[in-house]
Amino acid sequence: MRGSAGRIGFLFPGDGLNDDEFWSYLPDGVAWLTMRYPGTLPDQPLNHATFAASADLGPMVAAARVLAEAHPDVIVTGDHAGSFILGLGHDQTQADAIATASGARAGSTPSTAIVAALKSLGLNRVAITSPYDAEVTAAGRDFLQGHGIAVVNEARRSLADETGIAGQKAEFWENAAQAADHQDAQAIVLMGGGLRTGGSVARQEARLGKPVIAATAALVWHACELLGTNPSRPHLGRLFGAPPAHAPLSRHLSSGTKAMSVTSDPPIFAWGRGTRLHDTKGRSYLDFACGSGTSVLGHAHPAILRALAEQAATGVLHLGPHFHAPVQIALMERLASVLPPALSVFHPATNGTEATEVALKAAIHATGRQRFVGFEGSYHGRTLGALSVSAAKGRNAGLAGPPQATRHLPWPEHDADLDALATLLESALAPGDVAAIIVEPIQATAGMRVPPAGFLSLLRKAADRHGVVLILDEVFTGYGKSGHLFAFEATGIVPDLLILAKAAGGGLPGAMVAGTEGLLQNWPAGMQSSTFQMHPLTAAASLATLTTLIDEDLPARALGIEANLRAALAPLGLLDGIGAMLGLPILDVDGRPDQPRTRAIRARALAEGLITWECGTEGHVIGLVPPLTVTKAEIAEAAEILTQAVRQAR
Ligand code: PMP
Repeated sequence: MRGSAGRIGFLFPGDGLNDDEFWSYLPDGVAWLTMRYPGTLPDQPLNHATFAASADLGPMVAAARVLAEAHPDVIVTGDHAGSFILGLGHDQTQADAIATASGARAGSTPSTAIVAALKSLGLNRVAITSPYDAEVTAAGRDFLQGHGIAVVNEARRSLADETGIAGQKAEFWENAAQAADHQDAQAIVLMGGGLRTGGSVARQEARLGKPVIAATAALVWHACELLGTNPSRPHLGRLFGAPPAHAPLSRHLSSGTKAMSVTSDPPIFAWGRGTRLHDTKGRSYLDFACGSGTSVLGHAHPAILRALAEQAATGVLHLGPHFHAPVQIALMERLASVLPPALSVFHPATNGTEATEVALKAAIHATGRQRFVGFEGSYHGRTLGALSVSAAKGRNAGLAGPPQATRHLPWPEHDADLDALATLLESALAPGDVAAIIVEPIQATAGMRVPPAGFLSLLRKAADRHGVVLILDEVFTGYGKSGHLFAFEATGIVPDLLILAKAAGGGLPGAMVAGTEGLLQNWPAGMQSSTFQMHPLTAAASLATLTTLIDEDLPARALGIEANLRAALAPLGLLDGIGAMLGLPILDVDGRPDQPRTRAIRARALAEGLITWECGTEGHVIGLVPPLTVTKAEIAEAAEILTQAVRQAR
């Protein structure tokens, strides 16, 4: 038995399993040898008594001893009995016994392999199909649940015997998978079979939108994993890596986007569930960036998917700015019900930067003034108006002639800074030419900077004194991340204009400016319009997001997330920020911001399966922005990856 990638020994009970299926899965360079031993007979019934009778490890171990002559690196068995049927732990006993007898460094069984496959994809809620009777199926379910994998649905189609299993064509398993599917299931597990599904798994997955794990495939995959070789057989489904259907990202994408700032070869994401994203190579990642702070409910939240499907089913995908669908009105009503009564009028927009333009224009129109006051470190967007009021211009610093003159005041770090700020503010507003103060209640892009408590009320009072509009940019802080639905709720003030975007689109592009009647119902029709402003699909996703956040009290979860992340990362130093918007500053030995190392750490974390966000005035803060649905276990896992990345990245 020779093979550059390693050797796998297969042990099969003499039950008529179809070996061909296995060989077609193996990657190049892997050598294999099969050994059959007396086990379940092809025509014996697929019930507990049959499997229990073949549970004797003797014949299997004897066969493994024979295989030892071929020096396998890894040995696996296709036996069911040691798997779910005999309960938790027996599969490992079986895997260990054959490994020891054959001299292989590792062993596996179908059930061990299924669990390993699900864990590698980061999945813990499945539906199962079973060709066995109720008793055996229940044992399989208990086995998975014992490994922390919830079985949310099952479809059983008992077959008489192994010949019955081997005789089924792909359609049988496709129908079974379809029957088992359930909206809460992250994957379908084809228990005890999946033979002859090889060519159709990718098709089934495309139809069901989730991985389909056949026991057969899982076994081969696990053997390869144990061997340390990565079997890329895309037609066999996500477990084996999806097809390389794309050119390299750098081929067609503008270099002006942020896509290649951490690595020149970023993962390409094929699908997501909850906190996890899965790339086209079948790797799973914890998403602690959430699309730059957008997906507060995680990926594929059923409420959002349902709302989108319902709106799509009406056929009204888009109307333009002249007409509205009921869902857009429902969204405004719901927003009005959760905001202070003063903020009851809404101007829709497409994203954060456009919403900022809306707010600036509304303020200019209402006051007849042209100038603005902003803050150092601020980020309001990248279109020219929003850029002009942003202090953090990044690569845009050299762009000529920002249209709106803006004075940027220092961002207060401590209570003691507020007096000096009050003086500066007074001198900035005194000439009477300032239309608005624009400010983020917590600066995210600048590195999760939380100002002292009296900051916003200082601004509110100064704005009132000088007849200046107070614009709060809650593009990042909105929708629960700060521990409140909106960060301003914690400050006791109400702004004149409130900018909402990111999570306000529910995962689609969409934004809203909430404002007073005085500001938003006194400007001429058509003065500010864009084609896609909060279109019906976005409104549906937005409303579903808002409703879920409120019904499930998710903003309150942000504080628990903060406590867990702070505790888990304490050895790395203090985190900046609040709630589910935290940042780990990376400084060099002299205490200066260290952007190169920050990038190196983020790249390493990404390679290990953790997505983080770049922030900080010098790009030196690792932003951690998990969804509000993140679990404690996911936080612990992310903290472990980040801790290792910090230790290893130089
Ligand atoms: N304001 C704030 C506070 C932001 O964080 C951002 C985006 N990071 C924007 C505005 C701009 O939003 P968009 O990227 O949707 O234009």
